[in-house]
Amino acid sequence: MHIDKFEDAIRCCRFCFMCRHLSGIGNVTFTEADTPRIRASLIWGLRFHPENWSDPDFIDTIYRSDLSAACRRNCVNSYDENGLNLAVRADIVEKGFAPDYVQKLAAKFKKTPAWKCTGTGRTVYLADSYSKAAGADKAFGAIMAKVKKDFRTISGGVIGKGMQILGFLPESRAQMKKFADFVNGIKADVLVVSNPAAYDALTRDFKDLKLKLNCKVMHSSEYILSLKLKFTKKTGDVYYLESDYLRNYDGDYAYPGELLNAVKAVCKPFGTNDEESYSCGEGAMLLPEFAPELVKDLAEYVAERADDPKKDVIIASPYTKIQLKKYAGLKVMTLEELAAKAL
Ligand code: SF4
Repeated sequence: MHIDKFEDAIRCCRFCFMCRHLSGIGNVTFTEADTPRIRASLIWGLRFHPENWSDPDFIDTIYRSDLSAACRRNCVNSYDENGLNLAVRADIVEKGFAPDYVQKLAAKFKKTPAWKCTGTGRTVYLADSYSKAAGADKAFGAIMAKVKKDFRTISGGVIGKGMQILGFLPESRAQMKKFADFVNGIKADVLVVSNPAAYDALTRDFKDLKLKLNCKVMHSSEYILSLKLKFTKKTGDVYYLESDYLRNYDGDYAYPGELLNAVKAVCKPFGTNDEESYSCGEGAMLLPEFAPELVKDLAEYVAERADDPKKDVIIASPYTKIQLKKYAGLKVMTLEELAAKAL
């Protein structure tokens, strides 16, 4: 089983309360089940009560985890309760116990349209649905127009990250392979992505699955910095909400912070600590599709921690911007929008 690779997390997390405050869902549901300790205890209990693999309460508890990986990042022993969560989802799917709402979502992803590529140039921008909905693609286009640089845009399909998060691993790998074949066929030098989940998939997951891309993958913050632009306009005070993927999955990826420095943004500390995730479930990515009420709670939790919710300028990933605007009415910009504004 996939969970067998996480024996240390199963054995140790079930006795530990150290990171309970970093479980985003637990912080809004106030239920003990939504903490790493209880999730690990439930998984430990499956070896004595295998009939619980099909228990709807157990399955729902696993699928509503926000997967921020803040617990793993801040665990003194780096126990991977987040990886355990993803592994148990894959086991649930393989045992045929995926709930209806998960199966429906997986079926929707299977029917996704083919990729298409438009524009000219050896730089390619991935306009996924979150980047488009958040306006990050337009801001990226504005920056490229300003520096008179050609680029192509690819859009339309999915890269397989959603399927992986849901636990459909063979389907996820097939979608990732399809995307790799498409990108390798269009001959690019650089593939730029704004969506941190996509960056994580294209760098970490593709490597794990031995899927090669014949181009360099850069998050937009890294790419914009590589253009060595002169940012002349003031950006002022901002609150940067760290991306789960870029910080907690991808080793404290430094470029968003460097871009904020380059545009001379005055970054003010947000919330009560710098360990917690304020991303509204970016790690779980598909939570808005089957538990929008929880995403609303997460957004309101973030809004309650803003110094001045009506005026504060928040910088966040495309996913987080969409949720904070929709459910909390906060003023949120993506890194691309801030950089375009500063030019
Ligand atoms: S991840 Fe670390 S801190 Fe969190 S419950 Fe497990 S052992 Fe404790």
